[in-house]
Amino acid sequence: MKLADLYKEQGLVVSFELFPPKKWRGMANLFEHFNELAACRPSFVTCTYGAGGSTSTRTLEVLEWIRGDYPKIPVALHLTCGGATVEELKGFVRQAVDRGACGIVALRGDAPAGENFAPTPGGLRHANELVALVRATYPDLTILVAGYPEVHPEAPSPEADLENLKRKVDAGADVVLTQLFYDNALYFRFRDRCEKAGIRAPIVPGILPVTNLAQVKRITGLCGATLPQRLTQRLETYNNDEEGQFAVGVYYATRQVEELVEQGAPGIHFYVLNKSRAAALICRALTLDRFAPVLS
Ligand SMILES: Cc1cc2nc3c(=O)[nH]c(=O)nc-3n(C[C@H](O)[C@H](O)[C@H](O)COP(=O)(O)OP(=O)(O)OC[C@H]3O[C@@H](n4cnc5c(N)ncnc54)[C@H](O)[C@@H]3O)c2cc1C
Repeated sequence: MKLADLYKEQGLVVSFELFPPKKWRGMANLFEHFNELAACRPSFVTCTYGAGGSTSTRTLEVLEWIRGDYPKIPVALHLTCGGATVEELKGFVRQAVDRGACGIVALRGDAPAGENFAPTPGGLRHANELVALVRATYPDLTILVAGYPEVHPEAPSPEADLENLKRKVDAGADVVLTQLFYDNALYFRFRDRCEKAGIRAPIVPGILPVTNLAQVKRITGLCGATLPQRLTQRLETYNNDEEGQFAVGVYYATRQVEELVEQGAPGIHFYVLNKSRAAALICRALTLDRFAPVLS
């Protein structure tokens, strides 16, 4: 069975997105939190790839560590086009597969703040080209791509953005992981539009539980996601109270996930930011840790 087939199984596919820590202190933090994440029995985890290839070695190290210490948890690695030639991109995929990665999250990546994305000479311009590159060498590897319920900030129109997503799926992507969002209506509308556009891949909602208002304002500012007023108002009530903000954020995300599951979402992709408590509480409150299908 390949990773993408999990979405056809009974139960809900739960995945966690990690990032490769820059320093050993961050690695130690990840080791500490991963035990609790593993106890949630996710169907798989992913590890991001720093813009321009800045973390490629660390991303591979995270894969090796999880495959060694938690062999039952499948790992997919993110890969971005920026800062690499086609040969270098192929080399990374080869190393990932050789070390046991079960999938690649194929992305374009972002330019440094204030700049427009420019492809590396001998490299790729768009994620659909990366999907085609990986698919040409690995016909059975699961490929995941990004989708945008609130439209990618650089897209000229929602229609053009959807055409791009279709291009990625037509090039061989199996699964769409969405950008984070805080209003489920955005996801349901996006899923309907994908269906009408003939995009047949599972559209998996991406959830980032708010545990700290300042941090989430920074992240949503970068990716263009909106924060509903009813959420920010509650969070602001606990301006200098971390526990209060955490409780509001976890409650909100739990309700969000519950509705998504009830309305037929094929899985939930949690942006856990290398922390475990919020995701673990949500998974346990909704008993998701008992029903995630496993790769056989
Ligand atoms: C689930 C998820 C995981 C992510 N992981 C990472 C990560 O690990 N590392 C990282 O650096 N970033 C990551 N990102 C951020 C991502 O790199 C940015 O959102 C980036 O700006 C776009 O990447 P993409 O793969 O969606 O690009 P693309 O699909 O290439 O789209 C980028 C823009 O170009 C347009 N476009 C695409 N193809 C064409 C075409 N052929 N002609 C004209 N226009 C086109 C699109 O509409 C869009 O506006 C992630 C995002 C998500 C949602």
